Amino acid sequence: MSRYDEEARFDRPKRRTRPRTKDRPSYDDAVEGFVITRDRGRYTCWVEDRRVTAMKARQLGRKGVIVGDRVKLDGDASGEQGTLARIVEVLPRTTLLRRSADDDDPVERPLVANADQLVIVAAVAHPEPRTGLIDRFLVAAYEAGMRPLLCLTKTDLGDPEPLLSIYRPLGVESVATHHGGDLTELREQLHDRTSVLVGHSGVGKSTLVNALVPGADRAIGVVNEVTGRGRHTSTNTVVLQLPDGGWLIDTPGIRSFGLAHVEPETLIHAFPDLEELAADCPRGCTHAIDAIDCALDEAVAEHRADPARVASFRRLLASREGRAADYLAGS
Ligand code: ZN
Repeated sequence: MSRYDEEARFDRPKRRTRPRTKDRPSYDDAVEGFVITRDRGRYTCWVEDRRVTAMKARQLGRKGVIVGDRVKLDGDASGEQGTLARIVEVLPRTTLLRRSADDDDPVERPLVANADQLVIVAAVAHPEPRTGLIDRFLVAAYEAGMRPLLCLTKTDLGDPEPLLSIYRPLGVESVATHHGGDLTELREQLHDRTSVLVGHSGVGKSTLVNALVPGADRAIGVVNEVTGRGRHTSTNTVVLQLPDGGWLIDTPGIRSFGLAHVEPETLIHAFPDLEELAADCPRGCTHAIDAIDCALDEAVAEHRADPARVASFRRLLASREGRAADYLAGS
């Protein structure tokens, strides 16, 4: 038995009952880290300015540790070759990006913790923007508690206005970029934030990543995730440190999200003005376009709500029901 196993055994609770607070070990000396990779039970954590390899302490049980988690590390956190620290605590998550089980993957998966922003990369032309997919990414962002940012690419090849006008009623922030163009505005939006980038292939996401992070091929962390689409399909989540501060998490494998877990109440929570109006809805109202006596209809009729905003919110609600596979086609 290795020394690490012995340590893990040592701090296992003696009784099967949940230990009372006063019995829990104290980790006052533990250092804090940020999980950047996960590979077969080994985690790479970023601690101050170094990488520390760690394993999960036994007392965490089945609790998952995912990319983006803020954790407390015990043991040897020097990061020196051959050392192994232990993750003894996962700090409460501020956001959680996840996807439901869908046709491609029968398991609900937490993807990234504590990211502030979901950057939805979409081309204004070549390929034509797919608003159904953008809607689904927006729902995922709102459900996760993340701020969505629409990053339009190839604005030298088409007019961004038609797409922007679709998302304006929702109040989604946007930046426009094109190949070789100025990225100042985008850099400002990414500064000191942890951003997850999503978008289907061909929109220029990789080009953006390479422009934002010189030497992006030297990724800080690469996570190999085996998806449910067959053991041979793996995707790499890449964690990159932005030169001016902040983190970029590129998720080449995420082209869609199963959204079955998203309740209408969760989604409307991202729109406080609509949520307030919906306080007058019948119990269990779905707020959908065909919902009976939905207070949103009354608010529109009485000019207390912007019809375009209500319609946009309802379009997002409906986008949850699309089969994920429909949006993968042709990507
Ligand atoms: Zn309603």
